Amino acid sequence: MTFLRIDHLEKSFGANRVVKDFNLDVAQGEFISLLGPSGCGKTTVLRMVAGFETPTSGAIHIEGADIVGQRPNQRNIGMVFQAYALFPNMTVAQNVGFGLKIAGAGRAKTDARVEEMLSTIGLEGYGGRYPFQLSGGQQQRVALARALAVRPRVLLLDEPLSALDAKIRTSLRAEIRQIQQRLGITTIFVTHDQEEALSISDRVVVMNGGIAEQVGTPFDVYNHPATAFVASFVGTLSILEGTVKSKAEGSVQIAGQTLTRLRLPDDAAGDDKVSLSLRPESLRLDRRKGDLDLAGKIIAADFLGSVIRIQFEYGGSRVSLDVFNDPTRPPPAVGGSLTVHVAPETILVMRR
Ligand code: ATP
Repeated sequence: MTFLRIDHLEKSFGANRVVKDFNLDVAQGEFISLLGPSGCGKTTVLRMVAGFETPTSGAIHIEGADIVGQRPNQRNIGMVFQAYALFPNMTVAQNVGFGLKIAGAGRAKTDARVEEMLSTIGLEGYGGRYPFQLSGGQQQRVALARALAVRPRVLLLDEPLSALDAKIRTSLRAEIRQIQQRLGITTIFVTHDQEEALSISDRVVVMNGGIAEQVGTPFDVYNHPATAFVASFVGTLSILEGTVKSKAEGSVQIAGQTLTRLRLPDDAAGDDKVSLSLRPESLRLDRRKGDLDLAGKIIAADFLGSVIRIQFEYGGSRVSLDVFNDPTRPPPAVGGSLTVHVAPETILVMRR
């Protein structure tokens, strides 16, 4: 059942339409990410749900009631921002209890809830500290506890991890997901980091230029991208350009080679220009039956630790593949030639 429903939401700043016909149904307890490049309208959608921005048109319903006319403090929504935004002159306990105090909760109830929240975020005993005495990751956990303390119906997270360093970011993101699932709280999370969105969400909304290009599970948006933008924004992708040779054989001509048995778009015809998208993990150095062979020259080999990301030139394009590090062998050398193998059904073909 739909818990939060966004219908035909639009927002313009002057002549600039930054959110265009945005629709989304969120189930109770679901974790949704809004993913897209800077300026695509993610934060504006979130701010309209929170009540900090008024839609130009469209509706937002929570449990069947339209909330667009309500002030932010009437909506019972919790929000965590990118910058920690804790009150610097208040202790951790005062920060976490702030919303309850404003709502007129008694001392005993507030104290009990603050203790419960500090335990939820793993910061028992930190209530007397001030924000400056905490690390960035701890401050963000306090911001989360403050948002959750009033038991909001919906939790909104606006790039809450982007100011943290890589290791803390990964561990805190797992922690946020655990807490969210434990509390069963409906959550919308804004990020421009595709790995973050894929790892944490039940469903991802991929946005581009104010439009939701695709709404789907992480598995779906990665493996079955609805548009060329989604295919290139979510994950690393190498794109080859070619021309359809035979629709019946599923063959495409690329720089002197004919690749066959490709799954062509239904409406493709001979001589159509097409692009072929390849994921790095679909390409292999070992050959399996039915594979296509792509021969090229290595132009880069980046040692990333457990894997080496190789880039080689094929058909005038740069193609990436990942190979596992083998500590007993030197990594492949730049300038050398390479033949890689790919199953034709893993190649996504789109018309140009
Ligand atoms: P980022 O990841 O950089 O925060 P975003 O996808 O969240 O990007 P928004 O912050 O929603 O994008 O902004 C979308 C567009 O709306 C941008 O072009 C931005 O400049 C514009 N915009 C946002 N707020 C306002 C405002 N108050 N007045 C005028 N234009 C605004």
